[in-house]
Amino acid sequence: MICPYCQSVNADGVLVCTSCSRDIAVPATLIAERDDLLRKRDELRDELKRARGEIEAIMLRRKSR
Ligand SMILES: [Zn+2]
Repeated sequence: MICPYCQSVNADGVLVCTSCSRDIAVPATLIAERDDLLRKRDELRDELKRARGEIEAIMLRRKSR
């Protein structure tokens, strides 16, 4: 794997860059978890938008009575 900081080549699976000593290991499980969380966040955002729309529609209906 290539260090994102100093671009030097490291062996796969190393936790720390051998050249600049920075943390370069991001476990695949963490990446998967992050992707999953991002997806859920987007879903919730859409749901929230829909809910707001519904509430607004209800309020408008009440006002027009
Ligand atoms: Zn490095």
